Amino acid sequence: MTPTIALHDLHKTYRMGDVEVHALQGVSFEIQQGEFIAIMGPSGSGKSTLMNLIGCLDTPSAGAYQLDGIDVEKLGSADLSLVRARKLGFVFQQYNLLARQSALRNVEMPLIYRGVGRAERHQRATTALGIVGMSDRVHHRPNELSGGQQQRVAIARALVGSPAVILADEPTGALDTKTSAEIMGILQRLNRQQGLTVVLVTHEADVAAYARRVLTMRDGRLVHDESRSQEVIQ
Ligand code: ADP
Repeated sequence: MTPTIALHDLHKTYRMGDVEVHALQGVSFEIQQGEFIAIMGPSGSGKSTLMNLIGCLDTPSAGAYQLDGIDVEKLGSADLSLVRARKLGFVFQQYNLLARQSALRNVEMPLIYRGVGRAERHQRATTALGIVGMSDRVHHRPNELSGGQQQRVAIARALVGSPAVILADEPTGALDTKTSAEIMGILQRLNRQQGLTVVLVTHEADVAAYARRVLTMRDGRLVHDESRSQEVIQ
C-alpha cells in the first residue's frame, strides 16, 4: 500500500545573511494510513520545520516528500495550496478560528474555499460539529466558547474536508489537564473509529502517550522511532 506520508532524506537549510542553519539534516520515515503519531524533541530540534514541510507550508532544500502518492517537493506554491486544502486538516495550539463567525461558519470555511455548495456545506459542517460533541453550540462565536470548545470547533474544521491526514501542532498547549485529556480523547476516537491518520507535535510526554508511535527529533535528525503496544486509552 502507498504510504500516506513518505519522507526520504529530507533537508531544510535556512539562510540568515551569511549563516546557514541546518534545521533538518536527512530525515526519512513513512506513515501509513490510520497511524497516530507523535513527534517529540527539545526546542530547536526541527519539529516545526518538519511540520511546515509535511503541512505543505514550505518546501524542502533537498530530499523527497510524497503525500498520498503526490510528489510534493516538485510542486509550486499554487499547487501546494491545493494539496494542502484537499489532503490536510490543521489543528493549532491557538485554535485560529475567525472571531466574528459562528462555529458553523468556521467549520464551513474549508468547504467555501473549495467551492462546495451551500446545502452540502451546511450538512457536512453540522455533521463534523456533531462528531466533536458541539451540536448544541453551532451558532456560538469563538468568544462565547471555552478553550476546549474552541479546539473542538477547530478539530471539526480540520475534519470537514475529509483529509488524508490531520496535523496537530501542540493542540493542547493552551488547555488545562482535564480539557487536554478530552481533546486527546477526541483525536484518539477519530483515529480508532474512523481510521483517520493523525500526526501530532508535542513536547509533553503525557500528550504523546495517546499516540501509538512516537518519533523523537534531535538536532535536525530523527533519533528514535518507537511503536507502542500500549498507549493511553480514553
Ligand atoms: P522546534 O520546533 O523543534 O523548536 P524549529 O524547527 O523551530 O525547532 O527550529 C529548528 C532550527 O531551525 C532552530 O535552530 C531554529 O532556530 C532554526 N529556524 C527555524 N525557523 C527558522 C527560520 N525561519 N529562519 C532561520 N532559522 C530558523
